[in-house]
Amino acid sequence: MVVTQKDYYAILGVSRTATQEEIKKAYRRLALKYHPDKNPGDAEAEERFKEVNEAYHVLGDPAKRAQYDRFGSIDGMGQGGGSPFDDFGFSSPFADVFEEVFQEFFGGGRRRESERYAPKRGENLYYSVEISVEESVKGAAVKTTIERKDTCPECRGLGAVNPQDMVRCPTCGGSGRIKQTRGFFSVSQTCPHCYGQGMLLKTPCKRCGGEGRVDSKRTLTIKIPPGVEDGTRLRIQGEGNGGLNGGPRGDLFVDIKIKEHPYLHRRGKDLVCQLPISYVEAILGTKLKVPLFDDEEVEVDISPGTQPGETLIIRGKGAPSLNGGRNGDLVINLMVEIPKKISQKERELLEELAKVRGERTKESGGGILSRVKNLLS
Ligand SMILES: [Zn+2]
Ligand SMILES: [Zn+2]
Repeated sequence: MVVTQKDYYAILGVSRTATQEEIKKAYRRLALKYHPDKNPGDAEAEERFKEVNEAYHVLGDPAKRAQYDRFGSIDGMGQGGGSPFDDFGFSSPFADVFEEVFQEFFGGGRRRESERYAPKRGENLYYSVEISVEESVKGAAVKTTIERKDTCPECRGLGAVNPQDMVRCPTCGGSGRIKQTRGFFSVSQTCPHCYGQGMLLKTPCKRCGGEGRVDSKRTLTIKIPPGVEDGTRLRIQGEGNGGLNGGPRGDLFVDIKIKEHPYLHRRGKDLVCQLPISYVEAILGTKLKVPLFDDEEVEVDISPGTQPGETLIIRGKGAPSLNGGRNGDLVINLMVEIPKKISQKERELLEELAKVRGERTKESGGGILSRVKNLLS
């Protein structure tokens, strides 16, 4: 049987010379990141979680690691037909690390009575707003309405108005967590009966139905600082969901999206535009006014003999820097336009010009050969 062996070092993101301590640390970090409880319904995270566990199962054990280093595989591993973790429970030599992971995750599953009603911070919320290029340069105040959960004003997030209105949850015995075997792994989950509270409501709060929070809408004005770029994420403290048991509110994160402008684009701090000029303007030079924003225009000096594709840079006319420093520039790419149609008068003048310059035109005849001759002479 041909078995493609996974690179366990790559999976854990450690070098082949990593110490056991480094491997343990890497595993711990990744196991927390990809834990199914943190990524519900995310098949990819679950796959990564399995991989990380598999990798640590081998690299975390010096004897297995040595065998893996030498032979690139471990007997009985990765050969299909059953997970290598079938017999991998809390009695394994790695139990201590799993315990650590679980404690960080679940706050124990062994929480003390007094901690059960510990204040819980509200969740963060994520929204996005669209702004114009002008607003991204000058800043703006964008009014928006978000939907969020507010701590119930009636029961202050407890779910019941009086402590006597509660009884110990029979499903979890008051711990708020239940243990479940999920495939290869035993996990502790929030008790579905009491939602982790450990207590049930005899008489739920009438206002929130016992949830401790109520749906609400909040209209707020988001201050967009001048200089934001597409994808900038603003954090507005204390505007997320309300907390439980007196916990603080979560935060609101707002992603900035910059709308398309007909001709102005942001490139970092710079504003970039394409400016079409006529071939006559390119030859003779001119002064042009480029409308920048509603109330602003920039005078552009086109010097005689400007070449197609030449770039003009107007210092400081771009967006301000978010973290101090000088402004960006206005970058103007000059596009020299050759007209497809010309008037009779223009034609006569150009024919005249061609004569002056000793150039052959379609009118006067002369193919590629004479052009090459002209170049050589
Ligand atoms: Zn309530
Ligand atoms: Zn319960």
